[in-house]
Order: sequence, then C-alpha cells, then structure tokens
Amino acid sequence: MTLKIYTPGHGLFMDSLIMYGLACALREQHIKYDVLGFAQAFEVNVDVADISDVASAIARTMFKYKEDINKKLSNQLRLIQRDSSRKLTTYLNSMTDKKEVLKYLSGYLAPGHARSEGRWAPRGGQHVWLPFYPHIGKYFMKEFKYESRNYEVCQLCIALAALGICKAAVSVFTLTPRKPPIPTTHVIVLSFEGRVAGDLLNQIVDCVESTAFVESIRRVREATQSLPLGVFIQIVLACLAPDLLIRLHKAEALWRASSATFEVVRGGVVQVRGYEDMIVDRYLSSLVHLMLLDEEREKRAEPPVDPLERLRELTERLLREEEPAAVEALYRFLNTRAPSDLYTASRQVFKALEEGIGREFCEVLACLTR
Ligand SMILES: [Zn+2]
Repeated sequence: MTLKIYTPGHGLFMDSLIMYGLACALREQHIKYDVLGFAQAFEVNVDVADISDVASAIARTMFKYKEDINKKLSNQLRLIQRDSSRKLTTYLNSMTDKKEVLKYLSGYLAPGHARSEGRWAPRGGQHVWLPFYPHIGKYFMKEFKYESRNYEVCQLCIALAALGICKAAVSVFTLTPRKPPIPTTHVIVLSFEGRVAGDLLNQIVDCVESTAFVESIRRVREATQSLPLGVFIQIVLACLAPDLLIRLHKAEALWRASSATFEVVRGGVVQVRGYEDMIVDRYLSSLVHLMLLDEEREKRAEPPVDPLERLRELTERLLREEEPAAVEALYRFLNTRAPSDLYTASRQVFKALEEGIGREFCEVLACLTR
C-alpha cells in the first residue's frame, strides 16, 4: 500500500523543512518512502497501510527529540525567542500524542493544506515564526500596503518544520565581529524538483548530523563574515560526504539550496538579513566530476590527487589568510567551468598565498573546462 501525503504549500523554504520533518519521522521508524518535488511543494509516497502509521511515527519522533529541538532552536541557534520557546514546547508536547497529530495530518492527504491557513485563516492558529518562513518579513513593510496580518499555521506544520531545521538543515551560528557582536545564524536546506528515494533523504540527514561534517563546517564558518551567502553555500556543499555527493548527482532531480540568514537584534528580536535560493546541479556535477577524474588517475596507476580534500584545504587556508576574493574566484570557476575563470582563480590564489594551486590540482581543475 502507498499512502500519499502532501506538504502544505507554505512556499519552498517551509515546505522543504516540513518535508524533511516527515522524512525524519519515517526514517526513525524505518518506514519506506520516496518524495516527488514539484511546484515548490512535495508529495511523500509512504509504504504503509494507513495514515495512523504515519501519525504514530511522527508522535514517537517528536517524543524522542522534543527537548533537543527546543534546546537547539532557542539556546544554540537563538532562532526562537523566550516567549515563543514556551509555545514551541507546548506544540511539540501536543504532537507527541498520536490522536492530536492525526487531527492535523488528515489535512495533508490532499495538496493545499495551506489554503486553510496563512494570512486569511480563521483565527486560532499560531503566527508562523520567521526562521520557518523568512519571506513573511516583507509583508510588514509599509510600502507594500499590506495590512499587517498574522500568517497562521497549525501545530503540526510548526512541529515538523522545527524537526526539519534541527535534523536536516545545515545551521551555522556565528557572532559578527561588530561591537557589540550580533548573534547570526545561517540556515541552509537542500531542496529539489523531481523524484528522490527515501534512503537518499535519510543519507542527507545522516551526513548533516555526522561529526565529520559538523567539524568541517566549524572550520569554514567564519567565511560567512566575508563572503556572499551563495559562495558560502558552495563551501558547505563541498563538505558533504563524497558518496552522498555522487548519489545527489545521480538522482533524477534538480537540486537547489535555499538559505536564510537571521540576526538577533536588541531585545532578542530575530530579523532576516539575507535570503538566497540557487540551483546547485552544475556545481554538484563539478565536484563529482573532480572525484571521478581521480578514479581514472588511479586506473592509470597515477597517484590520486583527492581533489575534494585539496579544495577544502585550499579554502580553509585562504580563509585563514583572509583572502575572500581568491575563495570567491575559485568557487566561481567551479560553477562556470570557464577557462578564463580558472585563469583568474589561479592568479588570485597565487597572489594570496605566493604559491600556485599546485600543478596536479590545477591540471585536474582544467579537465572541467573540457
Ligand atoms: Zn498546518
């Protein structure tokens, strides 16, 4: 039996978080599923007899992680203010009850659950928090002449989006060098159009949680201070496990990375400072291509170059030397694969480090231009 569940239609960012929230619950209970991404929403095909199996998977997962979710969103990432944190606790607690989950989950059985929520919903829901729906901010600006109404969502939408941020999004917390320092959090979520197997989504969650990935992100997180969000996204993707990168590249899907930057200003108020939504297929294929070139070298009994590791080392070194222009040039080339961009990148690296990219690595990079 296959049960179809649809994300609500709250826009790409929040629906991606909700989709990952569902994926995490199914992964926890070892339930098979796959996901079709289309028109900024997702259809989750679940291998279960009926909806109560999915509701119980969600309830159990919320019970297991409710404290971790609140700790991470409120204390570590500072994305949720104190008052909201109390409400979040209430919602997460309520979603540990299978019957309560069922009440809302039945609205997910057809596309467009968001129609009964949002700005024109009958009052009674929770006004969505900015980190789940970064675009909501613009409606409060006077020039849009919108009446400032709340965008309301239900407890299940909130609980699943919170679970999705915690377990599947890459979140990076930093303090700006300004005085006083401003707590800043970047949230990056991988999204897609097309069909993706559940075990690949499970692998994304495994990788994001892994110590190796968390450690490599810690080493590059200062890049957020000096580089555009788009370049930082590319640096983060290069830190994913090699076998995951290969599977992402092979999947029948178009991958995008959506990222939002939040700052905590006076009074603990969270504000959106940046948003970037980019298609990353070409870049992912560059990374995978580099890895495959290394395999070919090995077949010819030539020593491997380990291009991904070289790229990470070079990035970290340039960041330590405070040379953002060279990092930007390097990643621009990986996106365009234009010979002129490789030339610029290698010149910038030479200028920054007083030595080149290295002959072998440069030869491997040059293969991308063909
Ligand atoms: Zn809802």
